[in-house]
Amino acid sequence: METEARNQSRGVVGESEGSLRKVPPPKWQVADVIDVISETPETTTLRLAIPEPSEFTSGQYYNIRIPVDGRPRPIQRAYSIASSPFPKFDVVEFGIKEMEGGLVSPVLAKGTKVGDKLEVRGPYGAFTWTEEKGGPLLLISAGSGVVPFMSMIRYARAKNLSVPMHLLFSSKSSEYVIYSKELDELQSELEWLTVTHTFTREPDHAAARYHRRIDREMVAELLKESSAELAYICGPPEMVELCEVELVNLGMKPENVYSEKYD
Ligand SMILES: Cc1cc2nc3c(=O)[nH]c(=O)nc-3n(C[C@H](O)[C@H](O)[C@H](O)COP(=O)(O)OP(=O)(O)OC[C@H]3O[C@@H](n4cnc5c(N)ncnc54)[C@H](O)[C@@H]3O)c2cc1C
Repeated sequence: METEARNQSRGVVGESEGSLRKVPPPKWQVADVIDVISETPETTTLRLAIPEPSEFTSGQYYNIRIPVDGRPRPIQRAYSIASSPFPKFDVVEFGIKEMEGGLVSPVLAKGTKVGDKLEVRGPYGAFTWTEEKGGPLLLISAGSGVVPFMSMIRYARAKNLSVPMHLLFSSKSSEYVIYSKELDELQSELEWLTVTHTFTREPDHAAARYHRRIDREMVAELLKESSAELAYICGPPEMVELCEVELVNLGMKPENVYSEKYD
């Protein structure tokens, strides 16, 4: 799995006095499930208390592994962190979308309850944002691809930042908008946050500005409106690739386009 390969490449961060500072690789640990919240018919928030938490940066992910009948070893999958790393990082929140026929996500999204224990390892990943990177930001997501962006938005709010963020969020319909109520409230509260919804299977709904899949025209319009200097894209690989190409075609520097593919 691609995740494993990426994990192998970590273990070194930052520079000190010309030498790279080594950090021990994350190890598997057993976390307690302290909250289970149904967000949409297919997506569930799991809040886990991590016994030996490591600092993380918004946009990173953990691996979660579970035993699966008929498999000799536990099966692991990557899940982005939805919670803010500030002020506390010992309780970590995930947003898990049930993928029909999948080995891991149906168990996590539909078969997990408060008091359960889950094996986790992390954090991992370079798909990160902090205020040092600046903005304005265009955040483009489909489905559970919104999860790392919730961490970025919650972090910016917790730190009282005011870097403009424009979130384009594609969902099947109003019923399937993950974090719907919280996003509405945040958008009313924070003048630096704009949320644009597109619904692919519910025509003419007032909450959505667009009613189709994310496409070139949409990206061009929102890039112009947001005056974004940085773009983050997260979700299914085809959507991510389309947006990457379009943003660069529209003049964004490739090094300012960050992407995470949920394949
Ligand atoms: C960095 C990263 C972060 C991620 N973050 C999140 C997140 O925050 N939230 C989230 O929900 N997901 C996230 N994902 C996706 C997640 O890791 C899993 O890929 C996803 O949950 C599906 O796992 P699964 O075990 O349920 O499905 P799998 O068992 O991997 O199956 C995936 C799909 O393929 C189909 N399939 C399996 N085998 C076959 C076959 N032989 N023939 C045909 N079809 C088949 C299944 O029916 C299913 O629909 C992330 C992925 C990455 C890489």
